Amino acid sequence: MKLVDTRKIRQFQAMRDPMSLQASIKESNRCLLCHDAPCSQACPAGTDPAKFIRQIKFLNYKGAARTIRNNNILGTVCSFICPVEKLCEKACSIKALEDPIDIRGLQCFAAEYGNRFKLEPQEKSLKTKAKIAVIGCGPAGMSCAAELAKMDYDVTIFEREAKSGGVGRWNIPDFRLPGSAIDQDFQNLQNLGVEIKFNSAIDAGDSISVLLAEGFEAIFIGCGLSSPFTLKMFEGFTNTYDYNSFLRMVKVNRESLQLQDKSVVVIGGGSVAIDSAVSAKACGAAKVYLVFLESLEELPADQEEIELARTMGILFRPASQVSAVISDGNRITGLTGCEIEWLEPGKFVPSNATQVPGTEFSLKADVVIQAIGTSPGKEVSQLSKGMKTSGKGVIRVGETFETSIPGLFAGGDVVNGGATVVQAVGEGKKAAVAIDHYLTGRKAI
Ligand SMILES: Cc1cc2nc3c(=O)[nH]c(=O)nc-3n(C[C@H](O)[C@H](O)[C@H](O)COP(=O)(O)OP(=O)(O)OC[C@H]3O[C@@H](n4cnc5c(N)ncnc54)[C@H](O)[C@@H]3O)c2cc1C
Ligand code: SF4
Repeated sequence: MKLVDTRKIRQFQAMRDPMSLQASIKESNRCLLCHDAPCSQACPAGTDPAKFIRQIKFLNYKGAARTIRNNNILGTVCSFICPVEKLCEKACSIKALEDPIDIRGLQCFAAEYGNRFKLEPQEKSLKTKAKIAVIGCGPAGMSCAAELAKMDYDVTIFEREAKSGGVGRWNIPDFRLPGSAIDQDFQNLQNLGVEIKFNSAIDAGDSISVLLAEGFEAIFIGCGLSSPFTLKMFEGFTNTYDYNSFLRMVKVNRESLQLQDKSVVVIGGGSVAIDSAVSAKACGAAKVYLVFLESLEELPADQEEIELARTMGILFRPASQVSAVISDGNRITGLTGCEIEWLEPGKFVPSNATQVPGTEFSLKADVVIQAIGTSPGKEVSQLSKGMKTSGKGVIRVGETFETSIPGLFAGGDVVNGGATVVQAVGEGKKAAVAIDHYLTGRKAI
């Protein structure tokens, strides 16, 4: 049996390892200490990189760790997977002269320092204020719960799974986000005195009324997206997965996938498709094809991830569309497809694609993984009668993240349709402030 070559993944992992003390001091000394700190303004979670970089620069490492943890309950997780090139590092002023400050690296160093040298826990909630229910222990729910606990509310999180972390725990590959980073942030949440009920799905019709009847005075929904899209042409076949079930199996039961020497086709061109393709290769697949509608330049995935996929030998099929399945009974054996052009430039949806005659191709496929987007589970719209949803079932909220039902708030992927951990953290924080305003009768922000 061919051994899996994981050297490339290890190199990628090494890029995310915490910086050494010396490297952190050197890197923080490059900071211009801007008065208006554009990096801090560009962080959706308000982590305040300008402050923690200054603290590292003046050798106050525990202070830096405290700043990160107190501002962002997912501070360790974010230091591994934030798309910094689009956020804080994009805004870094020194970019006009040289490379931006490695903010993620410094955050990783400080968070790790706080963990290793046992930062004192934050004060526990006194629970002297109202009871609040949070649905989902992913980034949005964790951050909303943490902020409310800091205000002395009595917070209970109801989580469907047996562990915290949401998508990061079950879908994002370990080589990008170690489970220990989630555990570290979750420990900080527990220190705040938040009660967490695992294996407790809130998914029956009108569950919100039940929670209100149990004495919860406000509710936050942070239940993410749990219903991946699939293509009709793959229905009924046994060797196809949506990205969610595939990546979950890679994390919890990778042996059962038996991908050694197989030919795998991944459909999709985003970060999730690349994670699926790289994971399939790391599980021993001989060939992994990535078939996507966009050209290479239009690919929505991050540059770093595309580079990793290239070095892992993933075979890209840009500007291509799968059109039919070749099968042997209920098993897919191959796919046929065609190259495409956009009818209208810049509109990256299948209905805008037209097939180019003479570009037909076929691919051997022992396993097909579909990574073409996702939406909230059907149960979400039934949580409360009259709660307004839109588009693909995402919850509609106002500026303060209050839904159409007073006292019912929502944030994270289930509202924004799928973004980032740091965005979910920022929305959870804003919703917590609005919940406090709602309960104390003050005017919202
Ligand atoms: C493969 C993949 C890779 C990604 N890579 C990155 C990345 O590199 N960087 C980045 O910033 N973002 C990344 N993301 C996006 C990021 O993970 C999400 O934006 C983020 O997790 C959203 O947080 P959330 O709290 O809104 O939802 P989730 O993380 O989905 O958490 C929701 C939680 O609610 C629970 N839940 C759901 N329904 C119920 C219910 N009815 N009752 C009780 N509990 C319930 C779920 O079990 C889950 O724990 C990636 C996503 C995927 C799929
Ligand atoms: S949380 Fe993410 S976006 Fe915010 S400062 Fe840290 S790395 Fe940058």
